[in-house]
Amino acid sequence: MADIIPFRKPNKEQKSQGKTLCAHDFHKWLVVTDSDFDSKKGRLVTRYRCARCKREKNKAL
Ligand SMILES: [Zn+2]
Repeated sequence: MADIIPFRKPNKEQKSQGKTLCAHDFHKWLVVTDSDFDSKKGRLVTRYRCARCKREKNKAL
């Protein structure tokens, strides 16, 4: 029997590195496409979301 099934371990180093970056406030900001209209300020607001920790921030144009 030489049926050795190779199995891949998930790359834990990459995941922990991402969390470390977020913990140090180095987020991977992605623009949320369905941008909100800020009714209070009366202008379009671009929303950003971190790809790793899902934190969001707004940036008025
Ligand atoms: Zn983050």
